[in-house]
Amino acid sequence: MIFIIKTSIPKSISIVGIPFDDYSSFLKGPAKAPGKIREALYSDSTNLFTEDLRNIGKTKELSDFGDLEITDYLNIEKQVVKILEKDTRLVSLGGDHSITYPVVKAFNKYYKNLNILHFDAHADLYNEYQGNPYSHACPFARIMEQDLRINLFQVGIRTKTDHLALQSKKFNTKIYDMKSWKAGTNFDFTGPVYLSLDLDVLDPAFVPGVSHYEPGGFTSRELITIIQGLKCQIVGADIVELNPDRDINNLTAMLAAKLLKEIISKML
Ligand code: MN
Ligand code: MN
Repeated sequence: MIFIIKTSIPKSISIVGIPFDDYSSFLKGPAKAPGKIREALYSDSTNLFTEDLRNIGKTKELSDFGDLEITDYLNIEKQVVKILEKDTRLVSLGGDHSITYPVVKAFNKYYKNLNILHFDAHADLYNEYQGNPYSHACPFARIMEQDLRINLFQVGIRTKTDHLALQSKKFNTKIYDMKSWKAGTNFDFTGPVYLSLDLDVLDPAFVPGVSHYEPGGFTSRELITIIQGLKCQIVGADIVELNPDRDINNLTAMLAAKLLKEIISKML
């Protein structure tokens, strides 16, 4: 198979659910997230407008491919390749964070000098975790091993260990620690951007429905403002780690749906 590097950014945007949580280290649950995010998106308790007045219910560029049928973890890549072939950008709804490795592998076939903007309490750079190299604690180690031309920007990190600091150095990732985060920070992107959003980057006060509570994170407003302020071309994104089993009154699902709307708005 020959992959054609995309020279222009596709206009269309697709959504796909990736209901996979086999590689969660602590709790299962995120496999149930895609349906919950869609439910929240279309909930009668709100509307489909973004804050800058785009009605994503009436956006002709947007389509939903439903959920992938996952038989095998590494096969996610092939399924995503098939979607990207249709000349569309893609927003994936996880699933745990392990899905980002096969998804980015697919993107990397179509885009040169990809930047990844990774929001997370965790750097997810473990060489292996509990004996699993594909654990949700490892996707960015696997990605960076594949292609060091990828520029990885990691924002909101607040769980570094000595191993993770070494991994970050080895892969030359740019870490924006939560402790020294400054509002209004500009990222220095050259080329297309893939946005990977682990909901636990937010303070647990705002996201009861995640598996790992790591205090000291962003408020919802802070994260929305960062997304709205991005100056870059987003070619793909994922929203991962919603765990509906821990959610309270769909609070986290509603926030995930809101973030989905704002990311789509930024892509339009
Ligand atoms: Mn993560
Ligand atoms: Mn995380």
